[in-house]
Amino acid sequence: MSLVYFAPARARRWDYKASQAAGLERLIEKMNLGEVIAGGEYVAIKTHFGSEGAHRIVRPRFLRVLADAVKAVGGKPFVCDTVRIRGWDYLEVANQNGINPQSVGCPVILADGLFGCDSVEVKAGRVLGSVQVAAAIYDAPAMIVVSHCKGHVGAGYGGAIKNLAMGGVAGRHRSGDWRQARGHLHAASPDSSIVRDVERCTLCLQCLHVCPTEAISEVEGGLVVDDNRCWRCGRCERVCPEEAIRLDKRGEDEFMLALAEGAQAVLSTFQPGKVVYFNFALEVQPECDCMPMADTPIVQDQGILASQDIVAVEQATLDLINTSLPLPGSLAADQGVRAGQRILAETLGVDGQLHIDAAAQIGLGSQTYRLVEV
Ligand code: SF4
Ligand code: SF4
Repeated sequence: MSLVYFAPARARRWDYKASQAAGLERLIEKMNLGEVIAGGEYVAIKTHFGSEGAHRIVRPRFLRVLADAVKAVGGKPFVCDTVRIRGWDYLEVANQNGINPQSVGCPVILADGLFGCDSVEVKAGRVLGSVQVAAAIYDAPAMIVVSHCKGHVGAGYGGAIKNLAMGGVAGRHRSGDWRQARGHLHAASPDSSIVRDVERCTLCLQCLHVCPTEAISEVEGGLVVDDNRCWRCGRCERVCPEEAIRLDKRGEDEFMLALAEGAQAVLSTFQPGKVVYFNFALEVQPECDCMPMADTPIVQDQGILASQDIVAVEQATLDLINTSLPLPGSLAADQGVRAGQRILAETLGVDGQLHIDAAAQIGLGSQTYRLVEV
């Protein structure tokens, strides 16, 4: 059984000690960072920078508390994510969402470099074979995984496992081959490509606007997708309101296992005991922070959870979310989800439990946990 510490979101007194920031400080004490981080060690604080329209990320205030805690034990923190759109633009997105060296008190970098192709090949499991781990994560001796926990169209739930699997690998490969980068997690086969149904397409251009590589362009009377530029990220498919563009993706079970294997490969670059997890079950919106917008939360803020066991912290977080009340006016309410139902799975029609199960099965941690409130 693993310990998961929990700082609830409710603040019942007019007192800093009742704040979520103070709760995070108590969680940090429980994580004994002095034993995780040696003096002078670089520490990756892996988070998600969001997008121009998705602001419900882990707030810079909390990243600052974590960076200060790393410095207090002699570590050298840097806040990082990997390239989702062009690197220069993604750093600007981080800045727009308030994440910059001034706000978080340490460098803010792209772990896979400004062009998303600084990576090291690392052996992975049966489905993936290998992945390209972002170089700054690969080289860092210690890591704090800071995850905004919410829904996800493909994974059902996005927390620490998805943060590492999708976010710990490089956006692209130096060779330009998408098979050696993040698209490898999504695509069904080395031949997967984008298929567009011209009959269904209304030329709304939403796919074109979210494409990170400008692989989609408008031509007279239609669209063309440049297969060579495409990263197989699947963003176009996710935003298409007509289901008119489709990436030949992995099946659900295989994708869930790919997520677990991706996280495992990233974690394999650290010595045991050098990674801790902070899961933020706040502003639990139905979709990923890389989407062009953020919907209203589907459950009330729960709080922050921390553990040294990735599976335990994920299981505890998903259990908290799934056993909460669906919020009126949210997507969960729109879908008719009722109290007592598993909220994320019922709202999205995809069960995030599957990739937590897969992570447990490949030995990443324990699904049995004890929740300790701080
Ligand atoms: S988002 Fe869908 S409907 Fe809109 S242009 Fe792209 S393929 Fe067509
Ligand atoms: S999958 Fe779609 S959005 Fe992603 S790079 Fe390819 S065309 Fe662009």
